Amino acid sequence: MNIGFIGLGNMGTGMALNLLKYCEKSGDTLIVFDINESALDDLVAKGATNGQSVSEMCPQCDVLFTSLPSPKEVNFLALGNDGILANLKEGGAWFETSTNELSEWQKVKNEAPSHLILIDAPVSGGAEGALAGTLTIFLGIDEASFVRFEFLLRAFAARVVRMGPSGAGYVTKLAQLHLNYLVVQGIGETLMLGAKANLDLGVLHSVLMNSCARSYVVESYIPKVLDGSYDPSFALGLAEKDMRLITELGRHLEVKIPLGDKVYSTYQEAAKAYGANAPHLSVIRLIEEQHDQILRS
Ligand code: NAD
Repeated sequence: MNIGFIGLGNMGTGMALNLLKYCEKSGDTLIVFDINESALDDLVAKGATNGQSVSEMCPQCDVLFTSLPSPKEVNFLALGNDGILANLKEGGAWFETSTNELSEWQKVKNEAPSHLILIDAPVSGGAEGALAGTLTIFLGIDEASFVRFEFLLRAFAARVVRMGPSGAGYVTKLAQLHLNYLVVQGIGETLMLGAKANLDLGVLHSVLMNSCARSYVVESYIPKVLDGSYDPSFALGLAEKDMRLITELGRHLEVKIPLGDKVYSTYQEAAKAYGANAPHLSVIRLIEEQHDQILRS
């Protein structure tokens, strides 16, 4: 089997490396592509095959994975004569792992030839989880394809969850992110309460970890605020995109999400202030600047 992977960024590199390990054992081949030549060269140096371009690699691929920044890139790579839909091998399966928008994915699906299987397969667990092979993957997939491909997804995912038919994966991812970003805002405000009262923020963190406030965000993100790195493994511009998709999903489903609307406007403000490429936890710098107080342990 030839497995393709397009998009070797923070998430894609880890997932592709785990698929490469799988291929080394199974005798399958991993074909990769990215417009970022150094990311591409790194994977090729480790044993993957250089796909050269989307149109050249897709006809060889039985299964394709993509990990791209936003719906814009997904649609760009999907459509047109040189795109995935026109070139993927007859009967091929495409797992789209980006955080994507339901209505944009529907446009791609409308253009797809019936012999292809398109699966929304967004992931959770961050760049560390991608590298460790411990991601959770949420699938919008039919039962037969789930049974057929679950073993392959286990190359990089510790939890492989069939959420329902097409689209259910993206909705799950956006619902999960909604809560995630609300908590990110929450940790900024909580740390500021502690800092202004002269609490030791390292001790406050360990108390939160042993309280009902414990969560992944508390465990993993607070140290990345307190050490001043703000977590460069995920870009602020992508977090802003996620919040936009969440508010659009709310409108689409006619669900009011006032907390989400507020958090989206905060991410827009942060992206304007620090730039789309800043680390995503830079959003907490807004709170630091408003209070003239840096949050450090
Ligand atoms: P990233 O920007 O690090 O990686 C995206 C990659 O796509 C880059 O290497 C870029 O060069 C490549 N790319 C862009 N346009 C391309 C094109 N036309 N052809 C080929 N390659 C192209 O982003 P990321 O952080 O790895 O995130 C990828 C997706 O996963 C996003 O949708 C993001 O929202 C989602 N996600 C990210 C995280 C995280 O913690 N980083 C966690 C879960 C989900």
